[in-house]
Amino acid sequence: MGRMARDLLRKLPSVDRILSSGSSRELQMAAGREPFAQCLRETLEDLRARLKAGAEVAVDEASILEAVRERLEAKRRPGLCRAINATGIILHTGLGRAVLPKAALDAIASEQKGYSLLEVDRASGERSIRETHVVRLLQEITGAEAATVVNNNAGATLLTLATLARGREVITSRGQLVEIGGSFRIPDVMEQSGAKLVEVGTTNKTYLSDYERRIGPDTALLLRVHPSNYRIVGFTHFPSLEDLVALGRKRDLPVMDDLGSGAFVDLRSYGIQGEPTVQESVKAGADVITFSGDKLLGGPQAGFIVGKKKAVSEIRKNPLFRALRVDKLKLTAMEATLKLYLDPDRLVREHPTLRMIAMGADEIERRALDLAAKLQGIAGVSVEVRTDASEIGGGSVPAQQIPTRVVALRPSRLSLDETAARLRAGSPCVFARVQHDRVLFDVRTLQEGEIDELAEAVRRILPA
Ligand SMILES: *Cc1c(COP(=O)(O)O)cnc(C)c1O
Repeated sequence: MGRMARDLLRKLPSVDRILSSGSSRELQMAAGREPFAQCLRETLEDLRARLKAGAEVAVDEASILEAVRERLEAKRRPGLCRAINATGIILHTGLGRAVLPKAALDAIASEQKGYSLLEVDRASGERSIRETHVVRLLQEITGAEAATVVNNNAGATLLTLATLARGREVITSRGQLVEIGGSFRIPDVMEQSGAKLVEVGTTNKTYLSDYERRIGPDTALLLRVHPSNYRIVGFTHFPSLEDLVALGRKRDLPVMDDLGSGAFVDLRSYGIQGEPTVQESVKAGADVITFSGDKLLGGPQAGFIVGKKKAVSEIRKNPLFRALRVDKLKLTAMEATLKLYLDPDRLVREHPTLRMIAMGADEIERRALDLAAKLQGIAGVSVEVRTDASEIGGGSVPAQQIPTRVVALRPSRLSLDETAARLRAGSPCVFARVQHDRVLFDVRTLQEGEIDELAEAVRRILPA
């Protein structure tokens, strides 16, 4: 530590001195004495650490009080707030995955204003099953015999394995031992469920005969996992779900399909390849199919379980089911989201996730020009529209990019990292991509009204 830093450390006023100084009175009254004192201690601690690290910091009382004020304000800011997603990643896990359809928000506001018919049957007045309405919709949309829902797909997978294979063996391909972000790994989930993982085949090739040869007296289940966040390409082979189901029938074993992202709509019409639909898995005859509510399905976080009556009713009877059950807000949002799938015209207009995936080049261009024009009016930035790529994200549809247009911004008097940091700190906060020498705003993932808000946010953070 240099001499100057040591001098400054010595000059740093004490907590008591600032507490009793007249200039802190106003802030103390506004915040309350104890919260103020706490923030003051934290601020001084922070300054001390920075001085020791050799940073240049102001240690006069006015600067310290200003830092305390900022700290108090930061503590009061709501933690979970709306974010503008200009990253172009449609299912951004950090930003909450799927944007809920307005129909889902409206349903929460109107149906959950007071009490609701969560678990009562209107006709008889008797207790009923809370997910009844969602189950009916799932049956109608997917064609499955039976369905239920839990908190998320990790829960759905755990519950299914624990119910159908606890203490016994589950055969799965080495090419499908998926890891999803946030520590979901098929082998670990398997262990937690009490089932024993039996790997067959190799990373790139697994044949039906590999499964068949490993079936023994302890085998409980054949499992296929959709590699939702990676692709194995080239010299590959994996048996179709139909073939696995045929093998399961022959040997009297249930077949589980963990789809992960779980689309109800064939994305090929939007140029997205390799994402199987839930309906295809139902048609192939899988006993249990699990998938997320907040990936391609575009609803709240949930884990759907659809398939055969026998398997689903066993799953529902597992005591773990109660621990993973969904709450009323989620059920309400889910029902409203699923209803959109019954009306294809409404679906493409009102389902934010599909709308963003399907957004045409004309609309993208219009949005980009609109945003660029608004940013061009701001002093101290250079702006241009570029071609780039959006991603589906959220561990869905890897390695496929959707052509898009981005607005590239270069501030003349602020570093790119500082610009991005200030945008994140604003309200609403803005998430953008920083690439090479520009901050990029992908217009595909902006919601209604957010072009204006984004331009305003940029204007606010730039030095005058
Ligand atoms: C995403 C995913 C999961 C986990 O789903 P969550 O809803 O995030 O819990 C499990 N399996 C696969 C194949 C997935 O893609």
